[in-house]
Amino acid sequence: MPQKTKNTPMMEQYLAVKEQYPDAFLFYRLGDFYEMFYDDAVKGSQILELTLTTRNKNAADKIPMCGVPHHAAQNYIDILVDQGYKVAICEQMEDPKLAKGMVKREVIQLVTPGTMIDSSASEAKENNYLTALHEKNGKYGLAYVDLSTGELKTATLDSINLVLNELMSLRTKEIVIDDSVTKESAEAIAPLKIMFSKQNDTKESAESSYAIQNLNSGLEISVIRHLITYLNVTQKRSLGHLQKAVHYEPSSFLKMDPYSKRNLEILQNSRTGKKQGTLLWLLDETKTAMGGRLLKQWLERPLLNLKEITGRQSKVENLLKHYFERSTLQEELKSVYDLERLAGRVAFGNVNGRDLIQLKQSLEQVPKISYVLNELNDGTFDDLLKNLDPVEDVADLIENAIVDEPPISVKDGGLIKEGYSSELDKYTNAMKNGKHWLAEMETKERQETGINNLKIGFNRVFGYYIEVSKANLNKLSAERYERKQTLTNAERFITPELKEKETLILGAESKAVELEYQLFADIRERIKDQIKRLQELAHAIAILDVLQCFAVVSEQSHFVKPKLTDKKHDVKVMGGWHPVVQQVMGKQSYIPNDIMMPENLNILLITGPNMSGKSTYMRQLALTVVMAQIGCFVPAQSALLPVFDQIFTRIGAADDLIAGQSTFMVEMKEANHALSHATPNSLILFDEIGRGTATYDGMALAQAIIEYVHDHVFAKTLFSTHYHELTALSEKLPTLRNIHVGAVEKNGDLIFLHKMQPGPADKSYGIHVAKLAGMPEGLLKRANFILEKLESQKSHSAEKNADERKTVIQEKEVQASDEQLSLFKPEKVVYQKGDQKVLSEIRETDL
Ligand code: ADP
Repeated sequence: MPQKTKNTPMMEQYLAVKEQYPDAFLFYRLGDFYEMFYDDAVKGSQILELTLTTRNKNAADKIPMCGVPHHAAQNYIDILVDQGYKVAICEQMEDPKLAKGMVKREVIQLVTPGTMIDSSASEAKENNYLTALHEKNGKYGLAYVDLSTGELKTATLDSINLVLNELMSLRTKEIVIDDSVTKESAEAIAPLKIMFSKQNDTKESAESSYAIQNLNSGLEISVIRHLITYLNVTQKRSLGHLQKAVHYEPSSFLKMDPYSKRNLEILQNSRTGKKQGTLLWLLDETKTAMGGRLLKQWLERPLLNLKEITGRQSKVENLLKHYFERSTLQEELKSVYDLERLAGRVAFGNVNGRDLIQLKQSLEQVPKISYVLNELNDGTFDDLLKNLDPVEDVADLIENAIVDEPPISVKDGGLIKEGYSSELDKYTNAMKNGKHWLAEMETKERQETGINNLKIGFNRVFGYYIEVSKANLNKLSAERYERKQTLTNAERFITPELKEKETLILGAESKAVELEYQLFADIRERIKDQIKRLQELAHAIAILDVLQCFAVVSEQSHFVKPKLTDKKHDVKVMGGWHPVVQQVMGKQSYIPNDIMMPENLNILLITGPNMSGKSTYMRQLALTVVMAQIGCFVPAQSALLPVFDQIFTRIGAADDLIAGQSTFMVEMKEANHALSHATPNSLILFDEIGRGTATYDGMALAQAIIEYVHDHVFAKTLFSTHYHELTALSEKLPTLRNIHVGAVEKNGDLIFLHKMQPGPADKSYGIHVAKLAGMPEGLLKRANFILEKLESQKSHSAEKNADERKTVIQEKEVQASDEQLSLFKPEKVVYQKGDQKVLSEIRETDL
């Protein structure tokens, strides 16, 4: 940084402001541009692809500089904030023409990743959450806010792991912390790559006293105060749309850790990270942005309360029965704009005339929606109907005040309707009359001078003028024409009469523009007073939208209403399917399956060839459970389900999740997490556990894990494995049952039936899969040969081993004893005559 003393007053001012925002890009308003200087300019010009210039070109200490036009600034701000930077917007606080000395400038807003609200339409169905954390005696107060909608929630969490879970499922980009947050906690959060913002002191504000009204916990009040102080400090404006903070218990929802959500592809495709191919993608038939956001929230937090679930179910059922009303409802919802964000903009003060028209049009839909809902209501919709307040006063105000097609800008006039303000009408009349008078004058002048192409025009610099082409100048004799401007082909004149009208018209115009802005600001304030009502309405519409979406999808996809119970732990899904896989591959080719786990059956051990549909089957159950507990119907012919409290999954390879740990380590951690947290009301999916280590090692672990679940956890568990040997466990574990995926060979090819059948699979189909994968003919022949040999050895040794195996399987004590491992140990194989030759052949084979 250069010496301050050498700088011009303007650069002095710049540096003083910059000093307060060292970690933000400072957008410094200079006339029609926002300029960046020094390091901001160097870095900004690279990121934003702007030309880097210099100020003080001739001086020794040149100042790097780059700028963006003020009207296009939003795009540039979005880019910077998207990339994880903060942008401080420094405005001119007085008209430069009127300012004495340096124009006063102030930062009017600090835009950060968590407070960005001018998001594009593509993000309309996304929430952008800013979170805050406060720590005390090992407990955490966590709060989050969506600044665009005013949604504010808070919870108390007992461990940093729960904090991490919440942060991940909120997909927050920025977290506000204070000194109470320990170094260890901050380090645990750091790998999530969330921007940390410090806010140590708290200030009382109207928003914070309102927000904490319903809270009891000191920890939660503290974190909300920090969060709101941070908003006040960065946003520097009224935040009247912030709602009362709602306390929530993460434990009152179906718990799924972020890895499970990812594994099950509920909101994000695990390969692409996009929506395509997810449960959200399949279900999303919402018609409004608010509904879209709520659907995601519901999917993040399926319910545990049976009454709440059945409440949603009966609404969906009712909507399903009324096809006609439902279609009408959908049509009406399509014309409802994003009320939540419109309300937010009103409070924020960046609403324009077009937004108000959208608000009005949305409100006008409400009576229509209520009407349709009343038509089909059998009592199930009473609670929602009550909240469908059309906020008529606001709709009427906008209808009376704002023209139907207002301009984007609220500062250039043209947005207030005639008849709304008599004072404004006076000015507009003067303007209109003036224009009429000008037209008359033009005709009169043409007649008097005989110049047919004489015209009266206007420009900003010279005002009104009479324009005469050079060729006709000689016809202009009278003295009243005073020359104003000379063009190549014409001259422009003014007359005293024209001058007089000009004063009148221009005066009226600027007064009208000014008055219109005042009127607009006043209307905005009046709407602001009704924000809470608008927010309640928005929430009711969002709920309705999600419910109609469930009805539509359930009808299209032939889902059924699941029968849920919180008494018995009984699963009975008949003719079920994986909704997303079926959607992608088409109904004809998909084979439905039953999932039967009565009370006395906790573990299904699934065997079958690769690619036969084991993991699809497991995911099918998890998705069915999630769908049931958000109140949607489920993909099956019929379904009986308990209310599950948690879902744990260990599916597929967890790739980049935790840097520096091997896949196997991750696998074991996830398995351990499930084993230590699952209850008898949980659902566990273990897909091919133990695959990540040496065969015997892995098999031993897999068996021990199954036994542990069986003896200690009692959760409903689907366990797929290709260790065929494990199927013998059914002899010893009474609540375990074998099932397998059927496959048949036809002319040496393998055909997967994708049908689950009772009992263990009887053969490994690896070679057939290799064939399907196109491996060379010779190699496959060789593998078949080796397999045959191995199997003949096995059958010889089997008899000898049979007794031994039984002893191990029936062993009551679960220990990793030698005997138990011996079940799989090769040294138990008794070699037969001729085997040595085969073995050495195998050894020499270059596989
Ligand atoms: P596995 O876990 O046994 O290796 P997957 O569950 O990954 O197998 O299934 C492999 C493929 O088989 C899926 O991508 C899907 O295309 C198909 N598939 C799975 N289940 C079915 C089914 N019930 N009906 C038809 N195709 C299925």
